[in-house]
Amino acid sequence: MDQERIFFFDTTLRDGEQSPGCSMYIAEKLRMARQLELLGVDVIEAGFAIASEGDFAAVNQVAREVRGPRVCSLSRAKEEDIAASARALEPAARPRIHIFLASSDIHLQYKLQISRERALELTDKSVRLARAYVDDVEFSPEDSTRTDRDFLCAMVQVAVDAGATVINLPDTVGYTVPHEYAAIFRLMKERIRGIENVVLSSHCHNDLGLAVANSLAALEAGARQVECTINGIGERAGNAALEELAAAIHVRHDQLPFHHGLDLRQLFPASQTLGEIITFGPAPNKAVVGSNAFSHEAGIHQHGVMSNPLCYEIMTPAQVGVPANRMVLGKHSGRHALNHRLQELGYHLNRTDLDLAYDRFVEIADRKKSVFDQDLIGIMLTHLRQTPTLGSHDSAAIASPQA
Ligand code: MN
Repeated sequence: MDQERIFFFDTTLRDGEQSPGCSMYIAEKLRMARQLELLGVDVIEAGFAIASEGDFAAVNQVAREVRGPRVCSLSRAKEEDIAASARALEPAARPRIHIFLASSDIHLQYKLQISRERALELTDKSVRLARAYVDDVEFSPEDSTRTDRDFLCAMVQVAVDAGATVINLPDTVGYTVPHEYAAIFRLMKERIRGIENVVLSSHCHNDLGLAVANSLAALEAGARQVECTINGIGERAGNAALEELAAAIHVRHDQLPFHHGLDLRQLFPASQTLGEIITFGPAPNKAVVGSNAFSHEAGIHQHGVMSNPLCYEIMTPAQVGVPANRMVLGKHSGRHALNHRLQELGYHLNRTDLDLAYDRFVEIADRKKSVFDQDLIGIMLTHLRQTPTLGSHDSAAIASPQA
């Protein structure tokens, strides 16, 4: 097995959908699943089959239509849940049943009111039952990061012995920090017999803003699957954002030498599709896919980006599928269009300066097919020695060259 290949497990349709305002109809889940397939995720968690008729139908439809990624359904460690997941997944090319069971004392005592011994029995029974239906079974000790380490090891050992193929260690409540989370994965590698035959997986929540950092720490410590969502949606503060993980691995490949099956140019389309479906997009300052992620407002930054995008950009918008520019000026554009765009960029010229700028613009337009914002800013800086007089809040204030 290639040790550096990592697997993206997308749970936008399950954990993501569980967040307020993120419910999706079946047709919307199918649309999102198709976009996730285009993006190249390895696993789509399509729902929690027993939770409702709608969830069952969504898992079933996604299983029928999606052929590339594995399709996964969530289940509690209960016979009826596992049977429902198995039925919903019947049409899947590559089905996975995902079982979760609380492992922390606080969850066992107050939520399930069962003993540790009973939890181990349920782990064994449920994993074996799921394996009777499908070859690919993921097991998650819920609230792993607040679980006594010896008991966590005991539970994982039972799951591995019963035939689990993926062991996911969720930071269910967004409580862990990177070095602590990494240590849990290393502990599994040291203590669990047969761990080399299973894929270890991270599942991080963003309550402390650490979901992506914790996920990367897990990868460094040996996890090879990351669970995440588009735009980082999910319970409470959300899950690890898929686009941020993918961008970090792309930009810092020197530090994070993993490869995967994603097409990064589908990151922005996936973000947009989700935003349309749930009727809200990411915050403007959201990394990678926010509307300001590639805009430069300060004159000094604009000048730097104009000279060379690498001055202030560690990746280009095109690499993650962000359209380079909304309005393109060319040799057919007039003084009015030029003036309009200059105003959007924060330049307010008198008639004489506009004439001068227009002459320079026409020269450039004769040489190039399209004149981009950075060309206009170049004219302003080099010929008119002007910086913007009014801050522009246009997200397309400057985009890097189309590449
Ligand atoms: Mn979760």
